[in-house]
Amino acid sequence: MIETLLNPEEVVLEKEDGNHVVYTFQNKTFRLDKHKARQRLEAKRVINGPRSAELNVLPLKYHEAYRIYKQMKANHWEPDVIDMTKDCTLWNSDKLSAKERWIIEMGVGYFSSAEGIVGDSVLHVIEDNLTAAELKHASLRQIAEESIHMDSLLHIIGSLNIDLDEVTAKFQDIPSIRRKNEYITRHMPELKMGIDLTKTENKQKFAKALFGITQVMEGTQFYALFAMILSLHRQNKMTGIGQMFQYTLRDESNHIALGRYILQELINENPDIWTEAFRQELVDFMAEGVALEKEFVRDCLPEDIVGMSQKDFLEYVDYNADRRLTSLGLPALSTVKNNPFIWLDEVMFLKKEKNFFETRVTEYQTSGSVKNTNEDDLI
Ligand code: MN
Ligand code: FE
Repeated sequence: MIETLLNPEEVVLEKEDGNHVVYTFQNKTFRLDKHKARQRLEAKRVINGPRSAELNVLPLKYHEAYRIYKQMKANHWEPDVIDMTKDCTLWNSDKLSAKERWIIEMGVGYFSSAEGIVGDSVLHVIEDNLTAAELKHASLRQIAEESIHMDSLLHIIGSLNIDLDEVTAKFQDIPSIRRKNEYITRHMPELKMGIDLTKTENKQKFAKALFGITQVMEGTQFYALFAMILSLHRQNKMTGIGQMFQYTLRDESNHIALGRYILQELINENPDIWTEAFRQELVDFMAEGVALEKEFVRDCLPEDIVGMSQKDFLEYVDYNADRRLTSLGLPALSTVKNNPFIWLDEVMFLKKEKNFFETRVTEYQTSGSVKNTNEDDLI
């Protein structure tokens, strides 16, 4: 599912030249003293490494994090320029059923709090404890993207003229949302206070938070509702929202990849974390997240509607949970093997090829032409 667009070797070129190591990226060349560079490289750690105020990524150790950072920048988008005219017309008409309307309301209600929880946790729990500059860079970029996602929800709320207080109050009272949020933030207050990360049990708490935010929440608990909203989009309903959720989903795929990479590097450097008991703790944590997510799916889609079957969305929860677990070498929880929404992977793949700003130019150029070949209208 996670397609590689930027090749790590193309992002940063690294070669030795006499007493120097030479890095080439961003059309610039950096020459570092080989001996000093090697010392700094060897001292770099995911956690508990030396910290430097200037956040200089060189010498680069965690290449994949830097590649993801560049990928995230290449995917930049702006919510407030996305046209909501068609969404407003449909929202204020009788052509949207009460059940379809409810899915949009759940999308706005859940993600308004969820994006904030992710942004806050990545800032105070994850980024704060990372010590390697290239990991911090990527993590800070993720935080900025969570702000863009929060902004996109405001753009939706403002465009559709939804009462913000009403939405907030309504969704604070929905037990399935409350339980999901409470479950994911359960261990955060302790981690936010700053814990001694040289102790194995604390390293495990940090690893679990990283797993919880990026693999359970972003990687599993976001996807069913994304798929529901993109199913509406596919039926040409609420297409402005659909487009924003496509861009958000593409961002999330990078957040999941980054989280997994940091977790893998953390475990490589700290094998004391990866005990049998801890692996089981992560699997159990995911199982609890899956159960809460299925309860949430049943709230969003109490019964099948045109183009959407509840069974498919429940299977999609299992499918996503299992691919997050197995990608970390953990056992799958379910027997679901196939993605019930193949078309969603295709959407993701197409979107990765697409540059937000270029698309906008194309849209302006083709407006008024007879046939609109913008791929957004094809999905
Ligand atoms: Mn997000
Ligand atoms: Fe995210």
